[in-house]
Parts: sequence; structure tokens; C-alpha cells
Amino acid sequence: MAKDKKRLTTASGLPVDDDQNTLTAGPKGPALMQDVHVMEKLAHFNRERIPERVVHAKGAGAYGVFECTADMSKYTRAKFLAKAGKKTDVFARFSTVGGEKGSADTARDPRGFAVKFYTEEGNYDMTGNNTPVFFIRDPSKFPDFIHTQKRNPATNMPDPDMFWDFLSLTPESIHQVTILFSDRGTPDGYRHMNGYSSHTFKWYNAKGEVYWVQYHFKTEQGIRNLTRQQAGKLAGEDPDYATRDLREAIAKGDYPSWRVCVQIMPAKDAKTYRWNINDITKVWPHADYPLVEIGRMTLNRNPDNYFAEVEQAAFSPGNFVPGIAASADKMLQARVVSYHDAHLYRLGTNYQLLSVNAPKACSAHNYQRDGYMRCDDNGKGGPNYWPNSMGGPAPDPSVAEPPIELEGVAARHPQELTDDDFFQAGELYRRVMTNTDREHLVGNIVAHLGGTQKRIQLRQCAIFYKADADYGTQVAKGLGLNVSEVKKLAAMSQEERVKATAA
Ligand code: NDP
Repeated sequence: MAKDKKRLTTASGLPVDDDQNTLTAGPKGPALMQDVHVMEKLAHFNRERIPERVVHAKGAGAYGVFECTADMSKYTRAKFLAKAGKKTDVFARFSTVGGEKGSADTARDPRGFAVKFYTEEGNYDMTGNNTPVFFIRDPSKFPDFIHTQKRNPATNMPDPDMFWDFLSLTPESIHQVTILFSDRGTPDGYRHMNGYSSHTFKWYNAKGEVYWVQYHFKTEQGIRNLTRQQAGKLAGEDPDYATRDLREAIAKGDYPSWRVCVQIMPAKDAKTYRWNINDITKVWPHADYPLVEIGRMTLNRNPDNYFAEVEQAAFSPGNFVPGIAASADKMLQARVVSYHDAHLYRLGTNYQLLSVNAPKACSAHNYQRDGYMRCDDNGKGGPNYWPNSMGGPAPDPSVAEPPIELEGVAARHPQELTDDDFFQAGELYRRVMTNTDREHLVGNIVAHLGGTQKRIQLRQCAIFYKADADYGTQVAKGLGLNVSEVKKLAAMSQEERVKATAA
């Protein structure tokens, strides 16, 4: 057997006698098509690439364990959270968002923070970021927003005009823009950053009582960021910096860990809370809803093969276990559908059968059949329809989510911009950031926004000014703009501002 494993074969297992010399008619060729081994080798090589992820293309992943540290059954019936000490295997993937698969790990960008919990009730995916909020709050804006982070269609180069034109026309982005341009936008690898669900999720207990939650993964390595100068230097010298850092730490037994917490809001609070709990541009201040620890995640095993386990890893915010469900957040509603759709495109119909994506602590039983690359037993000879009286798997009504009352007028309801949309970014600038944080934030913005047209600079500075007068003033000064012009634009409505800064 061992000897057999060492023998080179074709993909069909046929022994290969020579892998260096193509079969030819005479020593100078031509090559003969009957060299099945070489033809197969070349044809497979032509098909090695699969579509890269349109977002989160560059990433690194690792296996580990989640240990529940508090019984959460008062809030959720999820079994992996029901008992302190209970351990659940996980696979985590971290990533940048906008860059291609070969782009630098240290780019200024949010970082994806996705965790697959292999629970006994199926795989639960938490697909978050290292930021607690997002740039937009309506999914129809997502493709446009991502286009602005990619390459200019004419020049094939990143374009600060596209980037800031869109953001300054989308002022609800200010909170996330402020986090992105702080040094948290260039974390020192994947181990030194927090993860956040950003969305609100629903938890429900065995009695059907509902709570709203947001997840926080707090790094136990401590927050550590790069300055823009360090990040820029590393992008050239060691573009795989974060990938290397994660892999090397795990390889030497220095396992990274995160304290996993949630903010919990009783259902009745949501109606009267100051912030719309389904608005992903907002956080819930800790003073209102303090963090409650639910567990600890430790990553302790590197993948054996990057393509098989990381490139093909597929997470979906729609993968919920009983006890956890979606909120009404429009962005989440779209993600629940679109991640699965993206995997069908990238990986194919049966992507959930791939080892990294398949359930581990239970098995899947359903009436899905056939499709490209079906590689399990395809339901063997069992029934392929429901209902059946042949002993096939049956739905279990006991796992139903409590009923939800919904009403409303079907329309494209605009989410109006109000002064409240600038408040939390202002709080971050005024109250949370140190003088050094603020100085770096302004320097990072000036370095990037400085490459845009003046009218876009003015429009964006007015938005900074609306978040905090000093914030807007410092950026305007850094760009050499007239501060009173910025102040005047800040006093306008967004519509007036857009008109005043039109091309
Ligand atoms: P708190 O004073 O209770 O907490 C401040 C939070 O800000 C901490 O979670 C801290 O993370 C985080 N933080 C520190 N520096 C930065 C930075 N440069 N970029 C992003 N986050 C940072 O504040 P509140 O809960 O009242 O919120 C105030 C502001 O803090 C919010 O408007 C928001 O911008 C930011 N924030 C709030 C979070 C929340 O869920 N409430 C989460 C993250 C940020 P850490 O302790 O890990 O260092």
C-alpha cells in the first residue's frame, strides 16, 4: 500500500512510466496525442483556477475550538451555547475585502471575520468583520459600493475619485469611514483584531422568548495596528504578512484566541430604543447593553491544503441553528441569500459536500439529488421526494422559529438621513480616540482624499464636519481647503451640498 502511494498515476489511477519526456515520434518530435498522461496534465492545468471571490478574495484560515463559558439557555435554545464547558469545533477565515487574491494583506480595508461552528445541530456561520458597523444600510447599494473599491474601468487602477465620490454621496458611511481610516483599518495581522457580527441577530429560547443580539469577538492578543507608513512598506516587502503571521503563530503553538461576547437586548426594548437596531451603520453603546461573555475561541490547527480548505471554504449568514435567526436588517436579508448564491457560482451545486463545508458533528439528510460533482452516496436508494412513507428524513416541527408578526406597506422606503447618522462617528472621534488616534486618522484621510478632485474633497470634509467640527476642520486644513467653505457646506442638506459640489 505504502509503495502504491508513492507511485505516480493519472487521475484515473493508471501508473505513469515517465513524467519528464512527452511521447514523440523521434527525439525531435512532434508530440503524439496518445500520450494520455501529458494531455490530461495540461488540460487539468488549464482548469486550475476557479472564480475568485468578488469580495474577500484574499484570506487565511485555521481550525480551532469554541468553548462555551456560560449557559445561555435563558436566551437561546442553541445547543452549542447551552452549557459552560461545552466545546464545538470551528473553522475561521479572515480576509481583506476589496483586493484581488494576490493583493497585499496590509491594505487599508475592513477585515472579514468568518467563523463556522460545526455544531451537533448543523453548521452555524458567523460572518462578520473587524468593524462593528458598515458603510451602507441598503443592499441595493452594495455592488456599486464595491465597484468603487475596485479598479477604474478605463485605467485598471484604483481610483480615489470613485471611492470618495461614492462615499461623499452616501453620508451614512461616515461611521465606518472613520473606523476604516483610523489605524484599525490597517490591523497588525489577523490575530490582533476584534471581530463583530455588525448585524443584529435574533436569539430565541425554548419558550419562544426573543432577544436581539450582536456578537463581539475580543482579541486576547490585544489590539495592535499598523501605521499607514508601516502598512505601505509591508505591502511591498511582505504582501502575505497577515497570512504568514497567523500560520506561523499556530505552527509554533502560540494559538490565537478571542473572548466571545454578545450584547443582549430584550425584544420589547427594540421599539423604543434610540437607534434602529436593524441599521448596520450604528452600534449599541456598551453603557446601554454591556458585553456578556459566552465563550472563547482558540485557533489551533493550520489547514493542510490552502485551496481545499480555505479557498473552497464557504460561509453563509443564512446558516442558522435552532435558537438563532435573522433580524429584519435589510443588509442581512440580502446576505442570507447572496452568499449561498455566490458559492453556487464559484464552487458548484454541491459545495456543501466539500470537507471544510460539510457538517462534522451531525450529518445532512435531505432530498437534494444529483448536480455537478456529487461526491457522497447521493441518498443511495432512499426516497428522493417528500412526503414519503418509505422512512425518509422528515421535517421536525419542534425546531420552528417562533412566529413573527409582519406588516407594512410594500414600497421602496428610503432610509432618511438625519443628524443622528453623524453622531456615533463624532462620539468615536471626540470621546473614544486618543490625540494620537485622531492625528493618525486625519493623516490617513488626507493622504488618500488628497488624490481626489477638490469638489469631492469639499463635499466629504463637510461630512466629517457634521460628525465633529474639529474632525472636519483638521481634515480640511490638512488638504489646504477653506474651512469656512466646508462649514457652509456642512450646514446644507445633503441635496443642497451635492448641487453645490456638482461637476
Ligand atoms: P465605549 O467607550 O464603551 O467603547 C468604545 C469602543 O470603541 C470599544 O469597543 C473599543 O474597542 C472601540 N474602539 C477604540 N478605538 C477604536 C477605533 N479607533 N476604531 C473603532 N473602535 C474603536 O463606547 P460606546 O459603546 O459608547 O461607543 C462609542 C463609540 O465607540 C461608537 O460610536 C463606536 O464608534 C465605537 N465602538 C463601539 C462599539 C460598541 O459595540 N458599542 C464597538 C466598537 C467601537 P476595544 O475595547 O476592543 O479597544
